[in-house]
Amino acid sequence: MTDSSRHCVVIGAGVAGLASAVWMAEAGYRVTLLERRATLGGRTHSIEIPQVDDVADNGVHVMSGSMEELLRYLETIGARDLLAAQSGTYARRLLPGGEVDDTSLFRTFAWLPAASIADRLRVWRAYMRIVRDCARPPSDLDTITAQQWLDRIGMPKIARDTWIDFLIIGAHNEKPNLISASAFRNLLVTMARRGRGAARNGSLLYSTVDFTSLFVTGAEKVLANHGCEVRGRAGVQSITVHDNAVTGVTLTDGEFIAADAVICAVPPWAIEGLLDAVPGHEQLYRAAANLVPAPLVSVYL
Ligand SMILES: Cc1cc2nc3c(=O)[nH]c(=O)nc-3n(C[C@H](O)[C@H](O)[C@H](O)COP(=O)(O)OP(=O)(O)OC[C@H]3O[C@@H](n4cnc5c(N)ncnc54)[C@H](O)[C@@H]3O)c2cc1C
Repeated sequence: MTDSSRHCVVIGAGVAGLASAVWMAEAGYRVTLLERRATLGGRTHSIEIPQVDDVADNGVHVMSGSMEELLRYLETIGARDLLAAQSGTYARRLLPGGEVDDTSLFRTFAWLPAASIADRLRVWRAYMRIVRDCARPPSDLDTITAQQWLDRIGMPKIARDTWIDFLIIGAHNEKPNLISASAFRNLLVTMARRGRGAARNGSLLYSTVDFTSLFVTGAEKVLANHGCEVRGRAGVQSITVHDNAVTGVTLTDGEFIAADAVICAVPPWAIEGLLDAVPGHEQLYRAAANLVPAPLVSVYL
Protein backbone atom coordinates (compact mmCIF):
# COMPACT_ATOMS: atom_id res chain seq x y z
CA MET A 1 0.00 0.00 0.00
CA THR A 2 1.43 3.44 -0.91
CA ASP A 3 1.16 6.24 1.62
CA SER A 4 -1.38 8.10 -0.54
CA SER A 5 -3.76 5.16 -0.24
CA ARG A 6 -3.40 5.18 3.53
CA HIS A 7 -5.91 7.22 5.44
CA CYS A 8 -4.89 9.09 8.60
CA VAL A 9 -7.46 10.64 10.90
CA VAL A 10 -6.25 13.43 13.20
CA ILE A 11 -8.42 14.18 16.24
CA GLY A 12 -8.28 17.80 17.43
CA ALA A 13 -7.34 20.90 15.43
CA GLY A 14 -5.23 22.78 17.96
CA VAL A 15 -1.63 23.57 17.01
CA ALA A 16 -0.64 19.93 17.68
CA GLY A 17 -3.41 18.55 15.45
CA LEU A 18 -2.81 21.09 12.68
CA ALA A 19 0.92 20.31 12.67
CA SER A 20 0.22 16.56 12.62
CA ALA A 21 -2.26 16.98 9.77
CA VAL A 22 0.00 19.11 7.53
CA TRP A 23 3.01 16.88 8.12
CA MET A 24 1.05 13.68 7.43
CA ALA A 25 -0.37 15.29 4.27
CA GLU A 26 3.13 16.28 3.17
CA ALA A 27 4.24 12.71 3.82
CA GLY A 28 1.64 11.62 1.28
CA TYR A 29 -1.19 10.37 3.51
CA ARG A 30 -4.83 11.05 2.81
CA VAL A 31 -5.76 13.09 5.87
CA THR A 32 -9.03 13.85 7.65
CA LEU A 33 -8.85 16.41 10.45
CA LEU A 34 -11.70 16.26 12.97
CA GLU A 35 -12.42 19.11 15.38
CA ARG A 36 -15.32 19.19 17.78
CA ARG A 37 -15.54 22.99 17.79
CA ALA A 38 -16.70 25.05 14.82
CA THR A 39 -13.30 26.73 14.45
CA LEU A 40 -9.68 25.59 14.17
CA GLY A 41 -6.75 26.48 16.42
CA GLY A 42 -7.90 25.06 19.75
CA ARG A 43 -6.57 27.11 22.62
CA THR A 44 -4.53 29.20 20.18
CA HIS A 45 -6.95 31.49 18.41
CA SER A 46 -8.06 35.10 17.97
CA ILE A 47 -11.31 36.52 19.27
CA GLU A 48 -12.83 39.53 17.53
CA ILE A 49 -13.86 42.32 19.88
CA PRO A 50 -15.93 44.80 17.83
CA GLN A 51 -16.23 47.20 20.79
CA VAL A 52 -12.48 47.88 20.69
CA ASP A 53 -12.02 47.36 16.97
CA ASP A 54 -9.32 44.76 17.59
CA VAL A 55 -8.75 41.09 18.21
CA ALA A 56 -7.64 39.46 21.45
CA ASP A 57 -5.29 36.51 21.13
CA ASN A 58 -5.48 33.42 23.31
CA GLY A 59 -2.65 30.87 23.33
CA VAL A 60 1.01 30.69 22.42
CA HIS A 61 2.09 34.30 22.96
CA VAL A 62 5.67 33.82 23.91
CA MET A 63 7.85 31.56 21.86
CA SER A 64 11.51 30.84 22.21
CA GLY A 65 14.08 30.33 19.48
CA SER A 66 14.65 26.86 20.92
CA MET A 67 11.09 25.68 20.17
CA GLU A 68 12.30 23.76 17.13
CA GLU A 69 9.12 21.88 16.26
CA LEU A 70 6.83 24.90 16.61
CA LEU A 71 9.12 26.92 14.35
CA ARG A 72 9.30 24.02 11.88
CA TYR A 73 5.49 23.99 11.82
CA LEU A 74 5.35 27.74 11.07
CA GLU A 75 7.95 27.22 8.34
CA THR A 76 5.82 24.44 6.81
CA ILE A 77 2.70 26.61 6.65
CA GLY A 78 4.63 29.64 5.35
CA ALA A 79 4.17 31.72 8.49
CA ARG A 80 7.69 31.79 9.95
CA ASP A 81 8.28 35.33 8.64
CA LEU A 82 5.32 36.56 10.66
CA LEU A 83 7.39 36.16 13.84
CA ALA A 84 9.70 38.85 15.15
CA ALA A 85 12.51 38.40 17.66
CA GLN A 86 12.73 40.55 20.73
CA SER A 87 15.98 42.42 20.53
CA GLY A 88 18.20 43.92 23.19
CA THR A 89 16.52 42.71 26.30
CA TYR A 90 15.57 39.22 27.26
CA ALA A 91 14.19 39.26 30.74
CA ARG A 92 12.26 41.57 32.98
CA ARG A 93 13.87 41.08 36.31
CA LEU A 94 11.99 41.64 39.53
CA LEU A 95 14.19 43.38 42.07
CA PRO A 96 13.61 43.44 45.81
CA GLY A 97 11.02 46.08 46.60
CA GLY A 98 8.98 45.29 43.50
CA GLU A 99 11.10 47.30 41.05
CA VAL A 100 11.20 45.92 37.51
CA ASP A 101 14.36 46.05 35.43
CA ASP A 102 14.86 45.14 31.77
CA THR A 103 18.01 43.11 31.39
CA SER A 104 19.83 40.73 29.13
CA LEU A 105 19.70 37.05 29.91
CA PHE A 106 23.45 37.03 30.44
CA ARG A 107 23.32 39.78 33.06
CA THR A 108 20.52 38.02 34.86
CA PHE A 109 22.33 34.73 34.61
CA ALA A 110 25.75 35.93 35.52
CA TRP A 111 25.61 38.75 37.99
CA LEU A 112 22.50 38.51 40.17
CA PRO A 113 23.20 42.00 41.57
CA ALA A 114 20.88 41.50 44.51
CA ALA A 115 22.76 38.39 45.68
CA SER A 116 25.44 38.31 48.37
CA ILE A 117 28.99 37.30 47.41
CA ALA A 118 28.48 33.93 49.14
CA ASP A 119 25.26 33.32 47.22
CA ARG A 120 26.91 34.23 43.94
CA LEU A 121 29.65 31.68 44.61
CA ARG A 122 26.99 29.05 45.43
CA VAL A 123 25.13 29.94 42.23
CA TRP A 124 28.26 29.55 40.13
CA ARG A 125 29.04 26.22 41.77
CA ALA A 126 25.48 25.10 40.98
CA TYR A 127 25.84 26.33 37.37
CA MET A 128 28.97 24.20 37.03
CA ARG A 129 27.02 21.19 38.31
CA ILE A 130 24.29 21.89 35.76
CA VAL A 131 26.92 21.95 32.99
CA ARG A 132 28.35 18.66 34.30
CA ASP A 133 24.90 17.00 34.45
CA CYS A 134 24.01 18.35 31.00
CA ALA A 135 27.19 16.87 29.54
CA ARG A 136 26.82 13.53 31.37
CA PRO A 137 23.20 13.17 32.52
CA PRO A 138 22.82 11.18 35.77
CA SER A 139 20.83 7.98 35.20
CA ASP A 140 17.93 9.11 37.40
CA LEU A 141 17.32 12.47 35.67
CA ASP A 142 14.21 11.06 33.98
CA THR A 143 12.67 10.10 37.30
CA ILE A 144 13.12 13.35 39.23
CA THR A 145 11.61 16.80 38.72
CA ALA A 146 13.51 19.97 37.78
CA GLN A 147 12.96 21.21 41.33
CA GLN A 148 14.51 18.06 42.82
CA TRP A 149 17.46 18.44 40.46
CA LEU A 150 18.00 22.09 41.45
CA ASP A 151 17.73 21.15 45.15
CA ARG A 152 20.24 18.36 44.68
CA ILE A 153 22.86 20.55 43.04
CA GLY A 154 22.33 23.23 45.68
CA MET A 155 20.95 26.03 43.48
CA PRO A 156 20.33 28.98 45.84
CA LYS A 157 16.79 30.32 46.10
CA ILE A 158 17.81 33.76 44.83
CA ALA A 159 18.78 32.39 41.38
CA ARG A 160 15.58 30.37 41.18
CA ASP A 161 13.39 33.29 42.19
CA THR A 162 15.23 35.68 39.85
CA TRP A 163 15.07 33.70 36.64
CA ILE A 164 15.37 29.91 36.71
CA ASP A 165 11.79 29.18 37.78
CA PHE A 166 10.50 31.75 35.26
CA LEU A 167 12.54 30.10 32.51
CA ILE A 168 11.13 26.68 33.39
CA ILE A 169 7.52 27.89 33.54
CA GLY A 170 7.86 30.10 30.46
CA ALA A 171 9.65 27.58 28.26
CA HIS A 172 7.91 24.40 29.39
CA ASN A 173 4.56 25.84 30.40
CA GLU A 174 4.98 23.72 33.48
CA LYS A 175 5.90 24.18 37.15
CA PRO A 176 9.43 23.23 38.33
CA ASN A 177 7.96 20.71 40.78
CA LEU A 178 6.11 18.93 37.93
CA ILE A 179 8.37 19.08 34.87
CA SER A 180 10.89 16.28 34.49
CA ALA A 181 14.51 17.23 35.19
CA SER A 182 15.40 15.51 31.97
CA ALA A 183 13.09 17.78 29.93
CA PHE A 184 14.68 20.87 31.50
CA ARG A 185 18.16 19.49 30.84
CA ASN A 186 17.22 18.89 27.19
CA LEU A 187 15.98 22.48 26.89
CA LEU A 188 19.28 23.84 28.25
CA VAL A 189 21.27 21.62 25.89
CA THR A 190 19.16 22.73 22.91
CA MET A 191 19.58 26.39 23.83
CA ALA A 192 23.34 25.97 24.26
CA ARG A 193 23.72 23.96 21.06
CA ARG A 194 21.74 26.32 18.89
CA GLY A 195 23.03 29.41 20.68
CA ARG A 196 26.54 28.67 19.45
CA GLY A 197 25.62 29.80 15.95
CA ALA A 198 24.43 33.20 14.85
CA ALA A 199 20.81 32.33 15.61
CA ARG A 200 19.37 33.85 18.75
CA ASN A 201 18.04 30.65 20.17
CA GLY A 202 17.54 31.93 23.65
CA SER A 203 15.68 34.91 22.23
CA LEU A 204 11.99 35.45 22.67
CA LEU A 205 9.84 35.47 19.57
CA TYR A 206 6.46 37.06 19.20
CA SER A 207 3.80 37.26 16.54
CA THR A 208 3.36 40.35 14.40
CA VAL A 209 -0.16 39.27 13.39
CA ASP A 210 -3.21 37.85 15.13
CA PHE A 211 -2.99 34.18 16.12
CA THR A 212 -5.49 32.84 13.64
CA SER A 213 -3.41 34.38 10.83
CA LEU A 214 -0.19 33.04 12.35
CA PHE A 215 -1.15 29.49 13.30
CA VAL A 216 -4.26 28.55 11.32
CA THR A 217 -4.59 30.36 7.96
CA GLY A 218 -1.44 28.87 6.38
CA ALA A 219 -2.34 25.38 7.63
CA GLU A 220 -5.78 25.62 6.03
CA LYS A 221 -4.10 26.46 2.69
CA VAL A 222 -1.62 23.57 2.94
CA LEU A 223 -4.41 21.13 3.84
CA ALA A 224 -6.59 22.39 0.99
CA ASN A 225 -3.69 22.07 -1.47
CA HIS A 226 -3.27 18.44 -0.42
CA GLY A 227 -6.99 17.74 -0.74
CA CYS A 228 -7.41 16.98 2.97
CA GLU A 229 -10.83 16.93 4.56
CA VAL A 230 -11.22 19.31 7.51
CA ARG A 231 -14.38 18.92 9.55
CA GLY A 232 -15.56 21.23 12.33
CA ARG A 233 -18.29 20.27 14.80
CA ALA A 234 -17.03 16.71 14.48
CA GLY A 235 -16.42 15.45 18.01
CA VAL A 236 -14.86 12.01 18.26
CA GLN A 237 -16.45 9.61 20.74
CA SER A 238 -13.90 6.80 20.53
CA ILE A 239 -11.07 5.25 18.58
CA THR A 240 -11.99 1.80 17.32
CA VAL A 241 -9.57 -1.10 17.47
CA HIS A 242 -9.78 -4.61 16.05
CA ASP A 243 -7.20 -7.35 16.67
CA ASN A 244 -4.88 -4.82 18.30
CA ALA A 245 -4.94 -2.60 15.19
CA VAL A 246 -6.73 0.71 14.88
CA THR A 247 -9.61 0.62 12.38
CA GLY A 248 -11.00 4.15 12.63
CA VAL A 249 -12.99 6.50 14.85
CA THR A 250 -16.63 6.82 15.87
CA LEU A 251 -18.04 10.35 16.09
CA THR A 252 -20.41 11.50 18.83
CA ASP A 253 -23.32 11.31 16.35
CA GLY A 254 -22.49 7.63 15.69
CA GLU A 255 -20.82 8.08 12.28
CA PHE A 256 -17.89 5.70 11.72
CA ILE A 257 -14.82 6.86 9.77
CA ALA A 258 -12.38 4.14 8.75
CA ALA A 259 -8.68 4.88 9.09
CA ASP A 260 -5.32 3.15 8.83
CA ALA A 261 -3.84 5.46 11.46
CA VAL A 262 -5.27 7.80 14.08
CA ILE A 263 -3.42 10.67 15.72
CA CYS A 264 -5.01 11.79 18.95
CA ALA A 265 -3.98 15.46 19.35
CA VAL A 266 -6.17 16.42 22.29
CA PRO A 267 -5.07 17.61 25.74
CA PRO A 268 -4.66 15.02 28.52
CA TRP A 269 -7.94 16.03 30.16
CA ALA A 270 -9.87 15.25 26.94
CA ILE A 271 -8.71 11.68 26.30
CA GLU A 272 -11.00 9.94 28.81
CA GLY A 273 -13.28 7.60 26.86
CA LEU A 274 -11.49 8.14 23.54
CA LEU A 275 -9.00 5.36 24.16
CA ASP A 276 -11.24 2.79 25.91
CA ALA A 277 -10.64 0.24 23.13
CA VAL A 278 -6.89 0.87 22.93
CA PRO A 279 -4.78 -1.81 24.64
CA GLY A 280 -3.06 -0.39 27.73
CA HIS A 281 -5.44 2.55 27.96
CA GLU A 282 -5.65 2.31 31.78
CA GLN A 283 -1.97 3.19 32.01
CA LEU A 284 -2.42 6.09 29.56
CA TYR A 285 -5.41 7.41 31.54
CA ARG A 286 -3.42 7.17 34.79
CA ALA A 287 -0.50 9.09 33.25
CA ALA A 288 -2.87 11.74 31.84
CA ALA A 289 -4.56 12.17 35.23
CA ASN A 290 -1.17 13.12 36.69
CA LEU A 291 -0.76 16.01 34.25
CA VAL A 292 -2.24 19.25 35.49
CA PRO A 293 -2.45 22.56 33.59
CA ALA A 294 0.48 24.91 34.14
CA PRO A 295 0.11 28.40 35.59
CA LEU A 296 0.06 31.33 33.19
CA VAL A 297 2.83 33.78 33.99
CA SER A 298 1.62 36.74 31.94
CA VAL A 299 -1.52 38.30 30.55
CA TYR A 300 -1.44 39.98 27.13
CA LEU A 301 -3.65 42.64 25.64
C1 LIG B 1 -4.27 32.35 27.76
C2 LIG B 1 -3.22 31.35 27.30
C3 LIG B 1 -1.87 31.77 27.17
C4 LIG B 1 -0.91 30.88 26.76
N1 LIG B 1 0.35 31.34 26.60
C5 LIG B 1 1.30 30.52 26.09
C6 LIG B 1 2.60 31.01 25.80
O1 LIG B 1 2.90 32.19 25.99
N2 LIG B 1 3.52 30.14 25.29
C7 LIG B 1 3.20 28.83 25.03
O2 LIG B 1 4.04 28.08 24.54
N3 LIG B 1 1.97 28.35 25.30
C8 LIG B 1 1.02 29.16 25.81
N4 LIG B 1 -0.23 28.67 26.07
C9 LIG B 1 -0.48 27.25 25.85
C10 LIG B 1 -0.79 26.95 24.38
O3 LIG B 1 -1.80 27.80 23.92
C11 LIG B 1 -1.26 25.51 24.31
O4 LIG B 1 -0.25 24.68 24.85
C12 LIG B 1 -1.50 25.06 22.89
O5 LIG B 1 -2.39 25.94 22.21
C13 LIG B 1 -2.11 23.66 22.97
O6 LIG B 1 -2.29 23.15 21.67
P1 LIG B 1 -2.81 21.68 21.50
O7 LIG B 1 -3.04 21.46 20.04
O8 LIG B 1 -1.93 20.73 22.20
O9 LIG B 1 -4.19 21.61 22.31
P2 LIG B 1 -5.53 22.45 22.12
O10 LIG B 1 -5.27 23.80 21.62
O11 LIG B 1 -6.30 22.30 23.39
O12 LIG B 1 -6.26 21.67 20.94
C14 LIG B 1 -6.96 20.48 21.13
C15 LIG B 1 -8.16 20.50 20.21
O13 LIG B 1 -8.79 19.24 20.28
C16 LIG B 1 -10.18 19.43 20.25
N5 LIG B 1 -10.79 18.23 20.83
C17 LIG B 1 -10.71 17.79 22.11
N6 LIG B 1 -11.37 16.64 22.25
C18 LIG B 1 -11.86 16.33 21.02
C19 LIG B 1 -12.64 15.25 20.52
N7 LIG B 1 -13.04 14.24 21.31
N8 LIG B 1 -12.97 15.26 19.21
C20 LIG B 1 -12.58 16.26 18.37
N9 LIG B 1 -11.86 17.32 18.81
C21 LIG B 1 -11.50 17.34 20.11
C22 LIG B 1 -10.40 20.69 21.08
O14 LIG B 1 -11.66 21.30 20.80
C23 LIG B 1 -9.22 21.53 20.63
O15 LIG B 1 -9.54 22.36 19.52
C24 LIG B 1 -1.23 29.52 26.50
C25 LIG B 1 -2.55 29.09 26.64
C26 LIG B 1 -3.55 29.97 27.04
C27 LIG B 1 -4.98 29.47 27.16
